[in-house]
Amino acid sequence: LELSAIPMRMSENEEQGLLLVLQDVTAIRRLEKMRSEFVANVSHELKTPVAAVKGFAETLLNGAMDDRETAQSFLTIIHDESDRLNRLIGDILELSKIESRRSTLQFSPVDLHVFLERMTEFMATEAAKKNIGLELQAEEELFIEADEDRLGQILLNLLQNGINYTPEGGKVKVKAEFIPGTESESDEEGADDRVRITVSDTGIGIPRKDLPRIFERFYRVDKARSRSSGGTGLGLSIVKHLAELHHGTIRVESTVGVGSHFILELPLLQP
Ligand code: ADP
Repeated sequence: LELSAIPMRMSENEEQGLLLVLQDVTAIRRLEKMRSEFVANVSHELKTPVAAVKGFAETLLNGAMDDRETAQSFLTIIHDESDRLNRLIGDILELSKIESRRSTLQFSPVDLHVFLERMTEFMATEAAKKNIGLELQAEEELFIEADEDRLGQILLNLLQNGINYTPEGGKVKVKAEFIPGTESESDEEGADDRVRITVSDTGIGIPRKDLPRIFERFYRVDKARSRSSGGTGLGLSIVKHLAELHHGTIRVESTVGVGSHFILELPLLQP
C-alpha cells in the first residue's frame, strides 16, 4: 500500500485539511518486478551464446586454428551458437510485439482439416529424422476464424516440442474435434461451441510441479535438454499469447515417462 497526502486549500493562506490517498500498488509493483526480471533473463540468455562465440573464436585466434579438426569443431560451435542467438532474438522480438499488441491479427475462415494436414506435412521430415510417427485425426467441416500464419506458429511450436521431447521411435498425434457449448437459454444457439485441437506425444512428460509454470517465459524443466534441442524457452509463452489473441485457451496434461497432451480450444465459426 502506498500513502499520499494532498493538502486541500480553500483560499491562499488557509490550510483546510489533507486528502489522504491509500492506493493498492501490488499489481503495479508486480508488473515492474516481472519486467525487470524479464530484462535480467533476456540479458542472461543472450550472454550465454555470445560468451561461447567469443571464447571459441579467441581459442582459435590463439593457435587452435593450426589443428584442422579442432578448428572445424570450434567453428561448428560458433556457427550453431550464432543460430541460437538469432532464434532467441527472433523469439524475443516476436513476444514483445505480441505483448504490446502491436501485431494485429488478420482473421479469416480456416478449414481446420486442410490446415492441420498442411501443418503435419510440414513437420513430417523433422519427425522422420527421429523415426517418430506423426499422425493426424481431424473431423471434417470444422471451421474457425483465425490468423492462419499465427495459428500456424502455435501448431508448429507444439509439434516441434512434441518431436523434441519424445525419444526416437515415439509418436506425436494431432487431433481436432468439435466441442459443443453449454446449453443456456439466454445464449444464441451454438454461441459457445468450440473446437479442441490436441497435440499429444509419447515423450518424456513434464513433472507435476513444473506444469503450472510451463507457459512462463524462459521456463524450462531441463535447461540442458532444451538447449540441445535448440529451444529458446519462449515457444510456449508465445503459444499462450497467440491462443489468447484468438479468444482461445491452452492447457497441458502430462505424465512423466508417458507423454504430454497440449490442449488448444478455439471458438467455432458458426456457418
Ligand atoms: P523450449 O524452447 O525450451 O522448448 P518452450 O517454451 O517451448 O521452450 O517449452 C518450455 C519447456 O516446457 C521446455 O523446456 C520443456 O521442458 C517443456 N516442454 C514443452 N513441451 C514439452 C513436451 N511436449 N514434452 C515434455 N516437455 C515439454
